[in-house]
Amino acid sequence: MSDARIAGVRAFEMLDSRGNPTLGVEVTLAGGARGEALVPSGASTGAHEAIELRDGDERYHGRGVLQAVANVRGVLAQAVHGVEATDIAAVDAALREADGTENLARVGANAVLGVSLAAAHAAAAAKGQALHAFLTEVFDPDEARLPVPMFNVLNGGAHADNGLAVQEIMVVPAGLPRFGDALRAGAEIYQSLKGLLTQRGLSTAVGDEGGFAPRVASNGDAIELVAEAIRLAGYEPGRDVWLALDVAATEFHGPDGYAFEGRTLAASDLLDLYQSWLAVHPIYSIEDGLAEDDWDGWAEMTARLGGDVQLVGDDLFVTNVARMERGIRERAANAVLVKPNQVGTLSDTFACVRTAYEGGFTAVMSHRSGETEDTTIADLAVALGTGQIKTGAPCRGERTAKYNRLIRIEAALEEASQGPAPFGLPASCPGVVRA
Ligand code: PGA
Ligand code: ZN
Repeated sequence: MSDARIAGVRAFEMLDSRGNPTLGVEVTLAGGARGEALVPSGASTGAHEAIELRDGDERYHGRGVLQAVANVRGVLAQAVHGVEATDIAAVDAALREADGTENLARVGANAVLGVSLAAAHAAAAAKGQALHAFLTEVFDPDEARLPVPMFNVLNGGAHADNGLAVQEIMVVPAGLPRFGDALRAGAEIYQSLKGLLTQRGLSTAVGDEGGFAPRVASNGDAIELVAEAIRLAGYEPGRDVWLALDVAATEFHGPDGYAFEGRTLAASDLLDLYQSWLAVHPIYSIEDGLAEDDWDGWAEMTARLGGDVQLVGDDLFVTNVARMERGIRERAANAVLVKPNQVGTLSDTFACVRTAYEGGFTAVMSHRSGETEDTTIADLAVALGTGQIKTGAPCRGERTAKYNRLIRIEAALEEASQGPAPFGLPASCPGVVRA
């Protein structure tokens, strides 16, 4: 038996950042190398995501994952036993086959993802490589780059209780030379925003992703507050730092349209509103500006705004190749949000990003609102060369763990090349006017 063959798989019911149960998985290889991964969980989940298995009994208000734990220890452990962990495609094919359904409804996408990620960690350990280096070799060595962090400093929607429709207002220090500089800018702006909120008698309590969740009069006011915080911290909006939104419009979309600030709007009304914000603020990216099945609306949005703005499909695409292909065909969106747990395996995640790049779309690596101390997505962002990562505010351990991991990766890449490491938005990214 070669050293990199999978010899053992263990699973545990652990906790995520919202205090809900989640899955931890450990994979051991024949030669003794080990890998571990913890699985995240969303709140504003898309209807088309792969299925997250929850027990639904009296434990943990129905959110227990003991069934998923049993599936990892039983059917999935058996399926991958003896498979070369370094062959990611083979591991993931075995996992998919053991489940047998398209959306992983039988054993659970959470169970499958845990094994897929832990096996990759074990493979990297067996090869004596950092995870990002191992994944870079598997994906495409030409793509690797450090991502620009998208800091979600103001939370609304399903991640807060402040009544704000827009789920995330992000600051994106895309104009700075290194990841470390961008991290500093994000943290300074975050503290400036805290000061501004305090000054105005607004709450500085934070939402699920570490951003502030004040009760402000309107979504436009919230964006203005964040723009002010950028200036207050000494950065220039539209030169050093841009704004980005995740509207998460599926959450307020109903049979009659979009319920927004006390009115019911059609897609085209919402687009008018976005245009009015774009006229005033350097917003380079809008995620889920419309709902997950509003394909016609998305095509209209892309025709109207897509030349100047990155339009990211999260609930729309759910990291799914077939939905991505439709988006490319129908010119609905021009970018994809990449969440491994929406699709269930590392291979499917790679396939989604490849499809995006081939179709001329950009990609944004992303956490979930329910996170853990696991930092896999930081390495993945580098290896897939997305050039952008969304992993919350520069606050709360489960968010800073990813940013801090990227600091280490930046140092390692700079040491290896004895020079600067590639960093920044991809050249194909719409929305940012570069000098
Ligand atoms: P979720 O939110 O993890 O609750 O889905 C993140 C997002 O919508 O991007
Ligand atoms: Zn989203």
